[in-house]
Amino acid sequence: MPADYHIHGLAHEGPPHTVERLLPYVEAARAAGLTEMGFADHDRYLDGLDFNVFPELERVTGVPIRAGLEVDFRPDKDLGRELAGRPWDYLIGSVHAIGAWEFDRPGQESGFAAWDIDEIYATYFYLVARAAASGLFQIIGHLDLIKIYGHRPRKPVVELAEEALQAIARSGAAMEVNTAGLFKPVGEIYPSRELLERAFSLNIPVTIGSDAHAPAEVGRERARGRELVRQVGYTSLATFAGRQMTTVPLA
Ligand SMILES: [Zn+2]
Ligand SMILES: [Zn+2]
Repeated sequence: MPADYHIHGLAHEGPPHTVERLLPYVEAARAAGLTEMGFADHDRYLDGLDFNVFPELERVTGVPIRAGLEVDFRPDKDLGRELAGRPWDYLIGSVHAIGAWEFDRPGQESGFAAWDIDEIYATYFYLVARAAASGLFQIIGHLDLIKIYGHRPRKPVVELAEEALQAIARSGAAMEVNTAGLFKPVGEIYPSRELLERAFSLNIPVTIGSDAHAPAEVGRERARGRELVRQVGYTSLATFAGRQMTTVPLA
């Protein structure tokens, strides 16, 4: 039962959050052969989400729709209050910024030259570990997003990411295999194969997500993500409902 849980129905425009607006994403998911999907818009649009839209989409299309959110994790953000009391199926925790530096934004790339690359990687993965240790998230998003522009650490990346991976394993969260990296300058799935191998050895479950910001991007390059997951040794994927994980065979 293939699911794509990383879909931004509101893209970078934000509300209104309506059935009409999200319907093309569900149609694209069905056309791509997905049998379940989840919307995980950016948490900056949280107040604009209408939770009636998800069951209505499900009713109209027959496709199981999950209610998720991609939370931009920052250690100083008060997330508990922001997220409480809403019927989430899952929350994705993602690190997109080191302090005020939003490193994955277009135009922010010069920040990579301002600091030692191993320090950048170490700080990034420290924040990922903090996100996992918060216990708020069912899925950790795009584990090695910091490689987005192709900057590589000098130290082995598995060493730099070890504590973050251990924190994910301890938290019981799944980790996302995100195919959007194939369309970024780095041209690679997040995470790299060696990081996924380490995740497998730590028994961290995985999901496969497209990080779609347009209907045409739903499920993109899923076959490549699936093949990577299979080669590493996984035989199942994680699915979520009501913030509870179930695993299904990697069909
Ligand atoms: Zn993200
Ligand atoms: Zn995203």
